Amino acid sequence: MAARRIGSPGDGYAGYRERLVEQLRAGGIENLAVLRAFAEIPRHLFVPEGLRARAYEDVALPIGWGQTISQPSTQARYLEALELRGDEKVLEVGTGSGYQTALLGFLAAQVFSIERVPELAATARSALRAAGLENVTVLVGDGTLGWRPYAPYQAILVAAAAPQVPKPLLEQLDEGGRLVMALMGNSGQELIRIRREGRSTRVERLGTANFLPLVGRYGAPLPEGENR
Ligand code: SAH
Repeated sequence: MAARRIGSPGDGYAGYRERLVEQLRAGGIENLAVLRAFAEIPRHLFVPEGLRARAYEDVALPIGWGQTISQPSTQARYLEALELRGDEKVLEVGTGSGYQTALLGFLAAQVFSIERVPELAATARSALRAAGLENVTVLVGDGTLGWRPYAPYQAILVAAAAPQVPKPLLEQLDEGGRLVMALMGNSGQELIRIRREGRSTRVERLGTANFLPLVGRYGAPLPEGENR
């Protein structure tokens, strides 16, 4: 991983990134590759220009279209839960700003990321290019259907909350693969990890979550008046 030419130590933000990494570590993130990804990926390139000064705070920030770039500590938990070794083909549902896509690109071999809002996908693509990520592809569509042409995936990350696990995603998960997502329940959201073991799957509960809804065929219904 050391050979990958991404990240920009001399961009004036390295100190902010280091501080964020310290915060994540203090918050219980232990995976060294995950911490390294946060030290390398320039998060300020993935937030709207007017918010760059706040890019390295551990908060979610608005990115337009009613969506947010997720809170770094939440993303770190997700990434740790995926247990990436570096050789995986990953499917991400909900590109948003593209920041988590970039972190995945740093931690895995290849990333396919699906976003339903074309304008967000376009902004994310430019930011990923600016950040130097070459192993990530952003696709526009309903991510609850997955993306069959490139399946199976050794890891799937859903960056939004759904009432149930979309069936196509389970079908596209490789043997031994991990799927991490937030499930909506009666008493709020829960982060879960599903592991495929032969024909069966094992579900682990990893604590509470707080995500925007996953909308689509196998997700929540579209918001009133929207027909994308
Ligand atoms: N992890 C992202 C934030 C994701 S916010 C980041 O750090 O920037 C959730 C994203 O999921 C939003 O961009 C939303 O448009 C997208 N989304 C919701 N439902 C979707 C679906 N069915 N398919 C693809 N993207 C979806």
